[in-house]
Amino acid sequence: MLPVIALVGRPNVGKSTLFNRLTRSRDALVADLPGLTRDRKYGEGRVGERDYLVVDTGGISGDEQGIDSVMAKQSLLAIEEADIVLFLVDGRAGLNPADEMIADHLRRSDKACHLVVNKTDGLDPEVAMSEFHGLGLGQPLPIAASQNRGVRLLIEEVLGELHEEEVEELPDEVENSIRIAVVGRPNVGKSTLVNRMLGEERVVVFDEAGTTRDSIYIPYEREGQAYTLIDTAGVRRRKNIKEAVEKFSIIKTLQAIEDANVVVCVIDARQGVTDQDLHMLGFVLDSGRALVVALNKWDGMSEEQKLKVKEQIQRRLEFVSFARFHFISALHGSGVGEMYRSVDEAYDCAMAKWPTNRLTRLLEDVVADHQPPMVRGRRIKMRYAHQGGSNPPIIVVHGNQLDELPKSYKRYLQNKFTEVLGIRGTPMRFEFRVGE
Ligand code: GDP
Ligand code: GDP
Repeated sequence: MLPVIALVGRPNVGKSTLFNRLTRSRDALVADLPGLTRDRKYGEGRVGERDYLVVDTGGISGDEQGIDSVMAKQSLLAIEEADIVLFLVDGRAGLNPADEMIADHLRRSDKACHLVVNKTDGLDPEVAMSEFHGLGLGQPLPIAASQNRGVRLLIEEVLGELHEEEVEELPDEVENSIRIAVVGRPNVGKSTLVNRMLGEERVVVFDEAGTTRDSIYIPYEREGQAYTLIDTAGVRRRKNIKEAVEKFSIIKTLQAIEDANVVVCVIDARQGVTDQDLHMLGFVLDSGRALVVALNKWDGMSEEQKLKVKEQIQRRLEFVSFARFHFISALHGSGVGEMYRSVDEAYDCAMAKWPTNRLTRLLEDVVADHQPPMVRGRRIKMRYAHQGGSNPPIIVVHGNQLDELPKSYKRYLQNKFTEVLGIRGTPMRFEFRVGE
């Protein structure tokens, strides 16, 4: 499982700036699509050979009320679940009472916590850091996130302290099955859907895969196909009423997405598409996992409501239009069978293998239809293509001057390959390599 780094600090200290530095930027192609939310809160990143998850916990100022206090609670939960906490303070603004309050909380938790002084550009680092020593969180680490200064060093240092986690082997029956993560905000109907998916008469549930992970893995068979449900809602773990509401955990959700082949993202159609839904979908997109979107609680909605939701999907969910959308009722079971078909399809497309000569011929055809532009008197040349990975499928294109390839042309390539190879339900990535 990936280590989780939580960014904590009062508003305006530079958390989102650091967050953007730490997470890999979204595929430039995708980032251009309308509807995509830009203010992300969690993402994946990599330094050297090590991958990690980053959570921007949002600002904690100490006097939150109403919805803000709910956000602050999520921040505190994220701190509890993180492996490493980076506590950011502002080297220019100096020490602030809210910093002391947060430090107080962190000192009392037993988390690996690092004090990071940001905005040290143009300052004498020693002077900038001196007043933060008193927070009692050890030696402060200076960075300038907006200048990308000290950031890599910081991450290498904090990750270096973590023991390289032993990769937990998944049991064979899980490894050789279609792994489905059912994710979504609290109350959208995840548990109801998980029970429904398992409760179908054609389903044979094997012994629960005992696991030390946070989510429960449930291997089962349906119509001869092996699946494993990754249950983030903790359905099968709830032993009594008191436990009936499991804490919603973003980190557990992110890790389930990482472990899945196909993600079923559940949205409460009655609530419409919310920002939190968009964040979650943004993360699925970053992860490259195959995706099926379930608009749940479709039962008993008025025609007017249904129309409104469909309009919202067009407007806000354009960036995941590669996925199939299902209007379902987990409560009554309608639409769930069809949803399985989309899960299978998305899995097959995500895992498909194409020989190099097929991809190269396709590349030649696509280029013959529409030549890439000339750059400084020379035409951009694409020589051949091969597959560089699956789940998501990665197509590696080799040629000359490929770093000059316009975005519009990349999009054209992507659309053509998706169409001709019949890809549905999974994003597809392109990598361009000069030479060879
Ligand atoms: P957040 O509210 O904690 O997420 O803070 P932001 O990332 O939005 O940053 C707040 C402001 O500080 C923005 O105007 C940033 O451009 C600025 N900022 C962030 N990092 C640095 C830095 O290293 N140096 C300087 N001078 N400004 C920074
Ligand atoms: P979770 O927190 O995402 O696991 O959501 P639950 O499965 O616990 O469901 C939250 C509430 O929504 C419960 O009261 C469910 O009975 C209700 N619910 C779930 N699915 C549906 C549905 O398809 N239609 C309707 N009308 N209610 C549903």
